Amino acid sequence: MASLNFDNRFIRELPGDPLTVNQTRQVSAAFWSTVTPTPVSQPQLIASSADAAMLLGLTPADLQQPEWVAALSGNGLLTGMSPFATCYGGHQFGNWAGQLGDGRAISLGEILHDQLRWELQLKGAGPTPYSRRADGRAVLRSSIREFLCSEAMFHLGVPTTRALSLVLTGDAIWRDMFYDGNPKAEPGAIVCRVAPSFIRFGHFQLPAMRGELSQLNQLIDFTIDRDFPHLLAEPAEQRRALWFREICTTTAKLMVEWTRVGFVHGVMNTDNMSILGLTIDYGPYGWVDNFDLHWTPNTTDAEGLRYCFGRQPAIARWNLQRLAEALATVIPDQAIFSEGLTAFDEVFALEMGNMLAAKLGWQQWQPEDSELVNRLFDLLQQVEVDMTLFFRLLADIDVYAPDLSLLAEAFYRDDLWRQYQPACSQWLNDYCARVLVEGELPVDRVARMEKVNPLYVLRNYLAQQVIEAAEQGDYQPIAELLAVLRSPYTEQPGKAAYAQKRPDWARHKPGCSMLSCSS
Ligand code: AMP
Ligand code: MG
Repeated sequence: MASLNFDNRFIRELPGDPLTVNQTRQVSAAFWSTVTPTPVSQPQLIASSADAAMLLGLTPADLQQPEWVAALSGNGLLTGMSPFATCYGGHQFGNWAGQLGDGRAISLGEILHDQLRWELQLKGAGPTPYSRRADGRAVLRSSIREFLCSEAMFHLGVPTTRALSLVLTGDAIWRDMFYDGNPKAEPGAIVCRVAPSFIRFGHFQLPAMRGELSQLNQLIDFTIDRDFPHLLAEPAEQRRALWFREICTTTAKLMVEWTRVGFVHGVMNTDNMSILGLTIDYGPYGWVDNFDLHWTPNTTDAEGLRYCFGRQPAIARWNLQRLAEALATVIPDQAIFSEGLTAFDEVFALEMGNMLAAKLGWQQWQPEDSELVNRLFDLLQQVEVDMTLFFRLLADIDVYAPDLSLLAEAFYRDDLWRQYQPACSQWLNDYCARVLVEGELPVDRVARMEKVNPLYVLRNYLAQQVIEAAEQGDYQPIAELLAVLRSPYTEQPGKAAYAQKRPDWARHKPGCSMLSCSS
């Protein structure tokens, strides 16, 4: 097995908690605490990602070695690993929540490979000083969802943390999934996540709120140095401005990407926002089946719809404002923040236009295209149309002889389909006229659309089917689904079952349309 090159900068360069006892506490003036994962009784590696392993110079066979299985389950450490949990705060559902921290995430260290840095982090490996009243564990269902979605997002081209492995612990844990006072024993699992950095907005907020300004300054310098090294080429007095601007623009791009593929994060609290603009913390997320800007997968958010599909960009901006307030405690020049937020608005508008044009097969976005897009979104919303299938089928439309019936498969309800046919036909005709304005070859349009409109996404019900099989001891479907999700834009022979719209039985089934935070 290749030897690993650990370089644990986070704990080497940032102040740590002097206490080493693993007990829930407030940790001040420090960014991390030493913590050892709690061993599990029967670790079993049930899935791994060859693509994520490759980032570290490893193969799936390496991960099956006993010392790796031990490391991935919290039962042992490899040479160079030095486990720790980090300290952060956050706004949850709009309210400042104080110290949160890695309650069930334990980082093992940072690996350098091919000139890139990858932090390894176990999720569900036992309690930490930040666990508050919870157990530090994760159930199999949510771990499968995090494992699969991390890799699915990567293959879709959406910035994300990665997932290396999925281990079953052999220990049962208790969860009240419906919050109805009926907890149930569920299988425990651990995902090993991989990312260049797990630093969140909340890491900056907590020291700012506590007035720990020298620590905050230290964290800013550290983050720029380690995670934004290209900024070191800029004059020192401009670095922080460029840094904040980049956080704003990568976050804006991430919001465009989530919109493109129909992903709803579900819990966009500031502690779940990556400083690198990565999708992070897969919890009660969901994939849009029928296009619905008001849809949220998170049952806790069903009333407020704070984190619904259509509000994600506005929430991201709100979160950036909270980050700005935190940074403003040590960065006096307020213009830096207004300029960063303006950059968010500009990049979001520009990239959103480019993305929509590509999704619809147009070469270039024109301001007057908004009318056609708004009309489409209204129709998709009213008629209950499968977002993923709709855009794939739209590519097959002959723009010289538009035939609405080719799109029928994407519609969920016969009654609405009949009722809205005239409006849909009118839209389709206008759409085709818009395509023809550009005078391009049809094959070029189709190629452009198929690059941005996935055929296979991690539909909620597909994940649920794999989870139910795994809970019965059958792990093969996890690997099969991952194999399909590795090429989301290419039609794969024999895989039609993975590209179907949500079946009726899944419409209101827990796990398929409603996800609980209890995980
Ligand atoms: P989330 O909204 O899932 O990202 O979690 C919010 C906070 O709760 C974070 O600080 C987590 O570490 C913590 N947390 C969630 N679940 C658990 C758990 N089972 N044990 C310990 N901490 C948890
Ligand atoms: Mg979180």
